[in-house]
Amino acid sequence: NQEQDEEKSKEYLDELEFLAFTAGGQVEGRFTQKIDIPNPKTFIGTGKMEEVENFVKANDIGTVIFDDELSPAQQKNIERILRCKVLDRTSLILDIFAQRAQTSYARTQVELAQYQYLLPRLAGLWTHLERQRGGIGMRGPGETEIETDRRIVRDRISLLKKKLAKIDKQMETQRGNRGALVRVALIGYTNVGKSTLMNVISKSNVFAENKLFATLDTTVRKVVIGNLPFLLSDTVGFIRKLPTQLVESFKSTLDEVREADLLLHVVDISHPNFEEHIASVNKILDEIESADKPTIMVFNKIDAYTHETIEEDDLITEKSSKHFTLEEWKNTWMGKIGDNALFISALNKENLEDFRKKVYQAVREIHVTRFPYNN
Ligand code: GDP
Repeated sequence: NQEQDEEKSKEYLDELEFLAFTAGGQVEGRFTQKIDIPNPKTFIGTGKMEEVENFVKANDIGTVIFDDELSPAQQKNIERILRCKVLDRTSLILDIFAQRAQTSYARTQVELAQYQYLLPRLAGLWTHLERQRGGIGMRGPGETEIETDRRIVRDRISLLKKKLAKIDKQMETQRGNRGALVRVALIGYTNVGKSTLMNVISKSNVFAENKLFATLDTTVRKVVIGNLPFLLSDTVGFIRKLPTQLVESFKSTLDEVREADLLLHVVDISHPNFEEHIASVNKILDEIESADKPTIMVFNKIDAYTHETIEEDDLITEKSSKHFTLEEWKNTWMGKIGDNALFISALNKENLEDFRKKVYQAVREIHVTRFPYNN
């Protein structure tokens, strides 16, 4: 129904705006259009395009971002009409990844994904426009290589692939050297609190901030709970419609997940779209053949979740926002998942004892099956 559709598209655009903010942009206006089949030339319809065009002109807008993936031809056509830079969701995410890649490994992965995105778009129109404006979407390759011909880009792609394969081998050996410790991976949608949780339980100092994709590189820490040591990893967050180029080039970062014995799937319960987030994460787990691993669902940010209650007096009906108690959480559908659901606040350190206990039990179980004679 229409109301739900509007609610959904608002939430999608909220997320896109958050992505734009993470990339360093400031959003001046938002447009939506409901169409069954996108226009093959310009994605949106002519009337809507005119609306956007007027807005761009009136407000001197430098960049227009689409939430969906545009074909190279669509992107070019729209740029021609709007006379400004046009990005789609994929290129925006790639840009954020480029800004956030810290190690040479992550940088190589991002570079590969960028070139793969760039290849069909080489005959770009806005390259000359770009040089004057700069800004979002132009970090990494792009500026100098964009005019060079496809062959050079293809060569570069195969070179980067070789470089990654080489590092992959080294990382594989490193992982092999970690011995027989049980391996636990923190996974979840971006910005749900994985790094915060990692910091609290491993007393480390991983970078956490309220932006998307603060973490690109995998961090692995040795954690001990009740004399039982295990390895805990925190890796790149997942997101709805994660560009396929990225999933592919981040495959080895995702190996950490693939090779884990236990997954801690962290969910931001205070986010209106958390159920969809869970579905996006599960979809990627499926793609990397990790959906069947033992998993603990960690519902985080219970401090930030409020629900409306209506308190009726004889005369006045009052709405107020309340926090759920742990008992109440256990009665929600999430609580009914069973023993494998936990409700915590990593920030306020609420219910972390329960968390430690559950993780301990699960790790111990794996440990015992692995070394039946030592226990
Ligand atoms: P990651 O992307 O999943 O690693 O998420 P981060 O650990 O970087 O956290 C994202 C944001 O959520 C940061 O601003 C954290 O301070 C915040 N955050 C993390 N845990 C909680 C929590 O339990 N409650 C609240 N209210 N905020 C949290």
